[in-house]
Amino acid sequence: MSTLVISDLHVSVETDQGTKQILKGVDLTIEQGSIHAIMGPNGSGKSTLAYTIAGHPKYHVESGSITLDGAQVLDMTVDERARAGLFLAMQYPVEIPGVTVSNFLRTAKTALDGEAPALRGWVKEIRESMAALRMDKTFAERNVNEGFSGGEKKRHEILQLELLKPTFAILDETDSGLDVDALKIVSEGVNRAKANTGLGVLLITHYTRILRYIKPDFVHVFVDGRVAEEGGPELAERLENEGYDRFLADASVG
Ligand code: ADP
Ligand code: MG
Ligand code: MG
Repeated sequence: MSTLVISDLHVSVETDQGTKQILKGVDLTIEQGSIHAIMGPNGSGKSTLAYTIAGHPKYHVESGSITLDGAQVLDMTVDERARAGLFLAMQYPVEIPGVTVSNFLRTAKTALDGEAPALRGWVKEIRESMAALRMDKTFAERNVNEGFSGGEKKRHEILQLELLKPTFAILDETDSGLDVDALKIVSEGVNRAKANTGLGVLLITHYTRILRYIKPDFVHVFVDGRVAEEGGPELAERLENEGYDRFLADASVG
């Protein structure tokens, strides 16, 4: 059973106005096989947490640590993080001109495993996952993220998740821009990955809508760069009814 531990994490970025502190002491422990929702108002630092786990060079870790089964994630390159079992789906995925989905997936899988996947099984697996995500076969031959609609980008993320089989996935605003049908399909994919491979998920979301389809085991409310409150699924229901006002009032006093 793998564990991802974030301890007293402080993160800053350089802006035109100087150094800006964004994360101000984040503590979070995620066990494999459980789903943690990170919820919070815009600007509270949710994406910063995702980028920091991903190793984005813009985000400077001032202090604290992120460990995966005791190994320092912060000392790992981005590739090493992926090989260690971390999967990051970004709020704004990048285009990769000239690289098809099919080639991209095979290259990523080969890099992760250290050897190319056996062709027949691999082709079958891609076909099955694409069918489950209701993706047209021709999608595999399109260039990564080039001209993808919002829904296609998200499905492509979940396709990666199903095929690359990470230990932990960080999903940042996976629900944004999805209609209900696409949201259900994407959510089912995440639930399948949890059931099939014991995936642990850090599900970052501003809205409670996706939590109707992906049931969180734990909910953490993020305010002003730290976890302000945590609880079970009932906390998401409270936020759905009450919004973030109570927390924002608290933050401005402190
Ligand atoms: P969230 O995802 O919760 O909306 P973010 O992590 O995107 O929050 O942003 C938190 C705060 O940090 C915001 O005030 C945002 O403007 C600022 N911030 C984030 N990234 C950068 C950056 N690269 N440069 C300058 N400011 C940033
Ligand atoms: Mg935001
Ligand atoms: Mg964000």
